[in-house]
Amino acid sequence: MSGAVHRVSDLVARGLVKSASVASLDELVARYALAITPAMADLIDPDDPQDPIARQFVPDLREADTKPEELDDPIGDGAHSPIEGIVHRYQDRVLLKLLHVCPVYCRFCFRREMVGPGAEQVLSASALDGALDYIRNHSEIWEVILTGGDPLALSPRRLADVLQQLDAIDHVKIVRIHTRVPAVDPARINDAMMDVLAATKKTLYVALHANHPRELGEAAAHALARLLRAGIVLVSQTVLLKGVNDDVATLTALMRRFVELRVKPYYLHQADLAPGTSHFRVDLDVARALVSQLRGTVSGLCQPAFVLDIPGGHGKVSIAPDHLAGAHVLDHKGRPHEYPAPATGKPDFRG
Ligand SMILES: *Cc1c(COP(=O)(O)O)cnc(C)c1O
Ligand code: SF4
Repeated sequence: MSGAVHRVSDLVARGLVKSASVASLDELVARYALAITPAMADLIDPDDPQDPIARQFVPDLREADTKPEELDDPIGDGAHSPIEGIVHRYQDRVLLKLLHVCPVYCRFCFRREMVGPGAEQVLSASALDGALDYIRNHSEIWEVILTGGDPLALSPRRLADVLQQLDAIDHVKIVRIHTRVPAVDPARINDAMMDVLAATKKTLYVALHANHPRELGEAAAHALARLLRAGIVLVSQTVLLKGVNDDVATLTALMRRFVELRVKPYYLHQADLAPGTSHFRVDLDVARALVSQLRGTVSGLCQPAFVLDIPGGHGKVSIAPDHLAGAHVLDHKGRPHEYPAPATGKPDFRG
């Protein structure tokens, strides 16, 4: 079966949900948008109730359960938005949110109250002008991060307009695009899109969001290779998700796959406190133990920074396992070693 999924009836037709739950799911997807690209839908095994791709994209009635600690704006973008379309939390970089649309809607999305095929899908021309003026007038902005929604869901023509305007701002040196497109809709990385990306004068980074190694098949590899050939630097972002990638074997396979495809692992995110997402969140101690095991067994190239966005807009911080304990350094098995090592009286041979 092929084709995109936009309605609960599409899910029923593919055998991904039981027809008995249709009414409740219809209500749920009226609140939190549903979309699954053909590339992702084709990866789902309808006979596997634990399928890690389905878990990310197929709506689940547990999403109706909002916990008291969950927030509509979990990372506090609103508190740092001086003007529509801009989030300016850190001095040298801003988010430029160009649209609210994504080719897939992740069930754990941290902006799930904002994204979806609602009324204001794309930043209006006047709001975009205002946002670009803001960037022009703040010479401390060294990097512009295009996000949304998914910026590569824009038409190449619209994206070209934004990139050309950024090209003309001298103090902006880096443009970073946060996207799932190369994995979830690789056909969008076509000639027209490549012409636009290759034309920008700025140093371009693409931060690819992917959470399971199965997302990175041959079509994704091909799309990433096109980006690489255009001189774009690739880094990864992954959300730690219960039932998707919360085990060492899956995280290892995912990080290795990134590295094999020349995507440098950048961030592993603790899932944000978005509404109706508690079934995805991994306990922080369990998460830190997982990250510690990864450090102990897998190449340093495969190590992302484990980070959490503090609710309320206080920013991202590392929550990596702590290996300093007083005058001791803990190895990855938790064994303490004195640092500096006690004098032994023997000469220090290094070979
Ligand atoms: C995550 C984020 C960034 C990017 O942070 P890096 O650590 O540079 O990847 C920038 N601005 C905001 C508001 C963010 O939430
Ligand atoms: S691609 Fe990003 S913005 Fe879009 S639904 Fe997924 S997490 Fe949210």
